[in-house]
Amino acid sequence: MRNIFDSHCHYSDERFDEDREEILASMPGKGIAGLLHAGSDLETSRFGVEYSGKYPFMYTSVGIHPEVVENLPSDYIRQLEDMAKSSKKVVAIGEIGLDYHYENFNRELQMEVFENQLILAQRLGLPVIIHSRDATEDCMKLLRKYTPRGVMHCFSGSAETAREVLALGMYISFTGVVTFKNAKKAVEAVAAVPDDRLLLETDCPYMAPEPFRGKRCDSTMIPYIAAKIGEIKGKTADEVLVMCKENTCRLFNIDILD
Ligand SMILES: [Zn+2]
Repeated sequence: MRNIFDSHCHYSDERFDEDREEILASMPGKGIAGLLHAGSDLETSRFGVEYSGKYPFMYTSVGIHPEVVENLPSDYIRQLEDMAKSSKKVVAIGEIGLDYHYENFNRELQMEVFENQLILAQRLGLPVIIHSRDATEDCMKLLRKYTPRGVMHCFSGSAETAREVLALGMYISFTGVVTFKNAKKAVEAVAAVPDDRLLLETDCPYMAPEPFRGKRCDSTMIPYIAAKIGEIKGKTADEVLVMCKENTCRLFNIDILD
């Protein structure tokens, strides 16, 4: 039974250059039902469109990550729109959002690019994948304004912030960070998310769960995250996998032909 759906991964990353095709081709044999590649700029969005056309279990989002909003071509929205319309495997606009982690980031430009992409998602009727780091207040402001269907990815906020995101009707997704020893805040946030709003993701090649912390991560590590979430929610890892696969398919309108 293939029950693993990795709702956020980056197989375009150079850390997969050596064995990308090999690793992707092996996924169905390792229990992977689906992967959602997350675009983070025009190039990786294009990668997602190409690769999702090649692998039936692979889906993709297209979008501009807040860390790379400088020097965008003036027609970036049109380019994203063309990509989104070019393939049914494009199931979301993302990852988009705000990242105030470093002081030299241009917050105004981030807001503008984020807002433009929220409007694009609305126009195309697609859900969004949100990246928010150290920017909760501004991010929530724009989410309240547009109330998109979507997911707050790699959630690192408090249980209280989780409740605010949930109140907007959004989903929340957790990475391997929940398995780390010091993950008290993440564990509390998981407990605050109802079963039907929770997604699993690796954000690979980053964020490998225990016992692989620090190593290159890939989608086959999702069961370790599911096991930890099961511990918190009083479920088996398999129950969590099935539940989160169904949630992912519902949010992104994906029909898995198994
Ligand atoms: Zn990501």
